[in-house]
Amino acid sequence: MSKHLNIVILGGGESGVGTALLAKAKGYTVFVSDKGKIKEKYKTVLINNAIDWEEGMHTEVRILKADVVMKSPGIPDSVPLVKLLKLQKVPVISEIEFAVQFTNATIVGITGSNGKTTTAVLTHHILKQELNVGLAGNIGDSFAKQILEHDFKNYVLEISSFQLDGIIKFKPDIAVLTNITPDHLDRYEYQFEKYIDSKFRIALNQTKEDYLIYDADDEVIVNWLEKNKIQAQLLPFSLTKKIENGAYWENDNIIITIDNDKIIMPSNNLTLEGKHNVKNAMAASTVAHLLKIRKQTIRESLENFQGVEHRLEHVLKINKVQYINDSKATNVNATYYALESMETPTVWIVGGTDKGNEYKELYQFINEKVKAIICLGVDNAKLLESFGGMVDVITETQSMSEAVKMAYKLANPGDSVLLSPACASFDLFESYEDRGRQFKDAVRNL
Ligand code: ADP
Repeated sequence: MSKHLNIVILGGGESGVGTALLAKAKGYTVFVSDKGKIKEKYKTVLINNAIDWEEGMHTEVRILKADVVMKSPGIPDSVPLVKLLKLQKVPVISEIEFAVQFTNATIVGITGSNGKTTTAVLTHHILKQELNVGLAGNIGDSFAKQILEHDFKNYVLEISSFQLDGIIKFKPDIAVLTNITPDHLDRYEYQFEKYIDSKFRIALNQTKEDYLIYDADDEVIVNWLEKNKIQAQLLPFSLTKKIENGAYWENDNIIITIDNDKIIMPSNNLTLEGKHNVKNAMAASTVAHLLKIRKQTIRESLENFQGVEHRLEHVLKINKVQYINDSKATNVNATYYALESMETPTVWIVGGTDKGNEYKELYQFINEKVKAIICLGVDNAKLLESFGGMVDVITETQSMSEAVKMAYKLANPGDSVLLSPACASFDLFESYEDRGRQFKDAVRNL
């Protein structure tokens, strides 16, 4: 009998434990190693499945014996252990690379700096009306676990650049690239070029039979495509220009043409607000059209999609003031679209851990729509300096309930209160979800 292949999994989170289960079922010898603490619920799974694991350390001698290593996306390439593995020519791959070899499903892979989750959830929402389809990647149950437990015929995967950094052969049949703006540069030696290249790895292994759907209004994407050759068939989408093969927006209609097969759908009934969501809808509908979903189904799905929590989520209306939770806006580009979509005078709650933000592109909206700014961060100096003088009222606080109370006092009937922080949450909150939940709780307590 041939020797069992030895896989080591670095990181005992959702993707790590999912990979462990799949690998074990496929006959691998599995060892999970996490330098931090593994959550109880995952430990239980490992123990119940007789999978070896350790936490609080990495036992190098054992890890270096691996035939292949699956690294969780949270671990940077720069950590000494990963460098050592690469030096010793042990393949270090991501979960999608490992898992995809065990399915024949059609893969829709969605990446980009903003809009991945929204576009992935929306695409899944449309496809599931007519197809057997799973939703995985950075969402919900891991891809590996779903292959083991369900083996769907199609998958919609939300894919981060960190997952793409760990692919060798992985290729989506349909790739979506929503946009590229600077983010996570700390993981790319502060070089935007490296981050762009990482995003385009989504198309690295695609062939002439595959498709790349992308935002043709995004200069970074368009410039890259001018300089580099890729194999896949291109299906651009645009808000601003006619597209012959692909999707565009005209007179409140989304028009999608693929090989002369055209569908036209009204966009004014979309439940999602904002131009960015028209883009997300174009991308999702293009996928659906490629996969032969009926036009009527696509249209209805767009109209009854409820959106995703923490993304321009309408919380409550109190005294005719609409409270909106956009806690997932952790960079300036996301907040740009939030402010752009506002149609009423707005009290804006902003701030958190700054990622080297450049706020100039927001000034037009501040002048037009924002009546008051509440800075919610440990250090608000940069915000106060950037926006002071542009609005009548600018205040600061370190407490969400305080921020919401301030907003309540500042807003008049007909106004909106928008939490769209443009910053990471870690100075005051556990995560963007925690921040969004605290906002919603504070609003409900008003
Ligand atoms: P991701 O998964 O890429 O972080 P999300 O769908 O979670 O994307 O959205 C993150 C933030 O970006 C939210 O504030 C959302 O309103 C905003 N957003 C959604 N789609 C887009 C888009 N196409 N372009 C810019 N911002 C977007």
